Amino acid sequence: MEVARSLDVSAVASAPAGEDARIGPNAVIQLAAALRARFGKGGGRQVFAVAGHLPLFHQPPQEMVEEATAAALYRALFAVLPAEIAADVAADAGTRTANYVLANRIPMMAQRLLKTMPVTLAGPLLLKAIARNAWTFAGSGQVRTESCGRHFAVEIAANPMAMPGCAWHQAVFQRLFAVLVAPEITVRHPRCCHEGARSCRFEIFAS
Ligand SMILES: [Zn+2]
Repeated sequence: MEVARSLDVSAVASAPAGEDARIGPNAVIQLAAALRARFGKGGGRQVFAVAGHLPLFHQPPQEMVEEATAAALYRALFAVLPAEIAADVAADAGTRTANYVLANRIPMMAQRLLKTMPVTLAGPLLLKAIARNAWTFAGSGQVRTESCGRHFAVEIAANPMAMPGCAWHQAVFQRLFAVLVAPEITVRHPRCCHEGARSCRFEIFAS
């Protein structure tokens, strides 16, 4: 289980629920980056302003942020922009977050090993790393994972970052699995806290 250990990149447990619950800063940093990529340098200021967090647009957070702050930013994203564009931007922010994780948080040696493994071994190992680093993308949400052959699932109970379609999370999982487990990955989101469900369920299929 050497790979599992080397993927265990942080000993920080899930953030506690409540007003002080925190989430990884990339939820915010990569949202600003995705907005700039789409709308130009000042693009997206309005989203941060409407959320009441304009300073974060100009000065990206270096440490974990309150999950309420990240959630407010994504609510503002969908309030300011048409739903389809907001979902595109959220997905881009998710892909950028996964790229950051790949570049900075998962050792290259572990990545190379995962890529050489069969899907049925690499998938569960990646899920284990995802669960151990749940605070980075789920804050106080309770994360549970499942694997069965080439099918995998991540379930986030009380997902603090739930948004219409949860494009951010879908893109994070899509990118991580496509790079580390199998090139052809489909992610479905059949159940969502944003629509009143207890948990957000993400199903990941490797073809
Ligand atoms: Zn959801």
